[in-house]
Amino acid sequence: MNSIDDTALTPQPQAQKNRSNTAHSTTPTAQRHDASHAASSSPLPPSPTSVLKELFGYDSFRGHQAEIINTILLGHDALVLMPTGGGKSLCYQIPALLRPGVGIVISPLIALMEDQVFALLQAGVRAAYLNSTLDYNAVLDIEHRLRHEQLDLLYIAPERLFSERTWSLLARLNIALFAIDEAHCVSQWGHDFRPEYLQLNALIDAFPHVPRLALTATADKRTREEIRERLGLSKAKTFISSFDRPEGFRALPYHAGFAANIRAAHQRRFLQEEGVIMVATIAFGMGIDKPNVRFVAHLDLPKSLEAYYQETGRAGRDGLSASAWMVYGLQDVMLLRNFTAQSTATESHKRVEHHKLEAMLAFCETTACRRVQLLNYFDEAYPEDCGNCDSCLSPAATWDASIAVQKALSCIYRTGQRFGVNYLIDVLLGKPTERITQFGHHRLSTYGIGKELSPQQWRSLFRQIIARGYVSVDNTQYGSLQLTADCRPILQGKTSVTLRALREVRSRSSVNKPKSFLAQFNEFERQLWLKLRAVRQSLANEQKVPPYVIFHDVTLKDMVEQRPQTPHELLALSGVGEHKLKNYGESFLAVLRNTWDEHSIP
Ligand code: ADP
Ligand code: ZN
Repeated sequence: MNSIDDTALTPQPQAQKNRSNTAHSTTPTAQRHDASHAASSSPLPPSPTSVLKELFGYDSFRGHQAEIINTILLGHDALVLMPTGGGKSLCYQIPALLRPGVGIVISPLIALMEDQVFALLQAGVRAAYLNSTLDYNAVLDIEHRLRHEQLDLLYIAPERLFSERTWSLLARLNIALFAIDEAHCVSQWGHDFRPEYLQLNALIDAFPHVPRLALTATADKRTREEIRERLGLSKAKTFISSFDRPEGFRALPYHAGFAANIRAAHQRRFLQEEGVIMVATIAFGMGIDKPNVRFVAHLDLPKSLEAYYQETGRAGRDGLSASAWMVYGLQDVMLLRNFTAQSTATESHKRVEHHKLEAMLAFCETTACRRVQLLNYFDEAYPEDCGNCDSCLSPAATWDASIAVQKALSCIYRTGQRFGVNYLIDVLLGKPTERITQFGHHRLSTYGIGKELSPQQWRSLFRQIIARGYVSVDNTQYGSLQLTADCRPILQGKTSVTLRALREVRSRSSVNKPKSFLAQFNEFERQLWLKLRAVRQSLANEQKVPPYVIFHDVTLKDMVEQRPQTPHELLALSGVGEHKLKNYGESFLAVLRNTWDEHSIP
């Protein structure tokens, strides 16, 4: 695909395309790399590949990108189906830069529009957007630039496109292409339907010679046909990318088995890059002092609350909110029980380990506030429930499980204390398995006495009675369960047992969740946060230091909340000193000044 000689297909006039850098540049960095590099540095007219390299910094096109770009450069229409993240934007950005005139991008998503324009300005592309967030003067300025051929790309909301003012302005301009982003919005059956999209076929008559490019990540055939029909693209060349996603999140492994240099390299990346997920054993993390870890997930049960406390304590060192999340199950309980039992430690040491594991399990199974319980363990009293843990946010239901527990204990006893959980559940449910018949257990009084509970409910019950120590797991006997002295009063009916009920599976949205870090922001603030973070990352890359060395998250959060506009105001924020102000101030102020908040416009 990339071997196509795209220079040959490049039409000539853009070599003279006016690229004077005029007053529009609201971002200082926008002037750093001027788009004309691509034109001036070589005697040939710029090719798609040279623009890709010089403006966007990428070496080669992905998938169908080169073919799509060439189709547009030849003046033909195209329908592009590509998954999110596939690289749709370059398919119209590059032809817009190479064809004479301004490229018009119709997009319904204001936040995305702003992001793209911001990124383009960073790359030195003369881009702007027209949407309802702009004030009148900003609109006048953009119109001026359009009339004077000072824009390469204009992003516009569909309703704006059809305003009389915009439409008549466009009619007088030289237009490179129309890109119709989120083209599935034309489908009346889809949930993103936008009535204005139906009017877009008016472009055919009004601009018969301007190539049109419809893009979407919605791939089903019906939507595709609707787009083709409603947007008058029956003759357009269609490009369908694979929707398989080979890429995922940026994740790195770390365990004691790796060579020291690999471990060091992964650790360095974890410190220096944003958004890295470290998948690690406890070999990782001693002395990891990264202030902005926002999430710690435990996929294995820690051996003690001390370990749990220390490991979760790596999150949120900067004092901003962070989440700790843990899953555990029966296997973890059995495994850790066995570790303790099999350890070669002295009896008294084993007793201590056993006690610690009990406390950890009790913490897992508690229905009370977890923070209260955790602090209690460290002999600290917390005055009230925290309101921020899962127990507080969605209190667990409990049930009187005395009878069911009696049935389980008696089943263990009658089968000879030689069987594991799965077998016992089969007996309780009265399953006619070969093994059960072989052992004659279908004749037991406990056979089929537990049909009122589901297999999942029984598993949950067994996990809890093991965690509470009513039953022990024999490590030498394939996990067979045995009764302990603690279960006697239950069997005799002298004590009742209250257990945590299985949570019903609820829809995600109805579950109260602790507030994630980004959840504290509204949409505008979230976008601003991401932009500021991107600036920080690029400064960090230039200096080869971790991002938090430039500014901590706390400082970035202050920027989002206080929106400083001058060096003086920036200096007032915590974490900003004279030196940092001098080195980094302008880069951040550029973002802060260049961002319009619809709420702040009168
Ligand atoms: P989409 O609009 O399809 O969701 P984008 O156009 O936003 O995707 O591209 C996703 C990411 O991939 C962007 O960060 C973009 O810069 C990057 N990208 C696109 N094309 C290439 C390429 N040829 N080489 C490397 N990165 C690319
Ligand atoms: Zn709580």
